[in-house]
Amino acid sequence: MKAFLELVTFSEILVGLKETFKHLFTPSITLQYPHEKRNLPNGYRGMLSLLRYSDGVEKCVGCDLCEAACPSRVITVVSAEVPGEPTKRYAKEFFMDMTRCIFCGLCVEACPVDALGMTKEYEWAVYDKRSLHLNKEQLLEIGDRAFPERERPVQDQYHNVATFNIGLPQIPQKPS
Ligand code: SF4
Ligand code: SF4
Repeated sequence: MKAFLELVTFSEILVGLKETFKHLFTPSITLQYPHEKRNLPNGYRGMLSLLRYSDGVEKCVGCDLCEAACPSRVITVVSAEVPGEPTKRYAKEFFMDMTRCIFCGLCVEACPVDALGMTKEYEWAVYDKRSLHLNKEQLLEIGDRAFPERERPVQDQYHNVATFNIGLPQIPQKPS
C-alpha cells in the first residue's frame, strides 16, 4: 500500500525537488572565474621568479645549486665572473623550461642567497609551449612584479662582510 501511495503521489520527485530548493537558498561557493579569483595562501607554489636586492642588483650568484637540486632538469645556469671582480660570480644566462616544472620548490630551498621565489601567479596557459621556456630577463620581470618589496643588499645587512668574499682567507672589512 505504501509503495502504491509513493507511486501515485510521485514522492521520489518531491524528495528530489526538496533537495534542489534547499540549495537555491544556500550561499553560492562557485567563483565567477576569471572575474573573481581565489585568495591564495602565502607559500603558494606558483610560477618561479628571479629576485633582486633593493638596489636593483640581481641576487643570483650563479652557483648552480638550483640546477643540481632540480629533479626535473628545468634549470640551466650559465655562470660567469663579475667583470673586474674575480671573486664574485653572477648568472650570465639563466633559463627555466617551465613545461617540465613540478613546482616542488627544491630549487628555492637549495639557493643559498634566496635568489629564487615562487609567486602566486598561475595563469600561464599558452598556445605555444615554447613560450614557457623563460630566460633571465623574463624571470627577473616576474620577480619584480610579484615581489615589489625587496631585501636590502647583503653588504648593508652584514657590515663586516664584503659581498660574497667570504671564501677569502682575510675577509675585507667594510670601512666604518
Ligand atoms: S620547483 Fe622543482 S621542478 Fe620546478 S624548477 Fe624548482 S626544483 Fe625544478
Ligand atoms: S638561483 Fe640561487 S641556487 Fe640558482 S644559481 Fe642563482 S644563486 Fe645559485
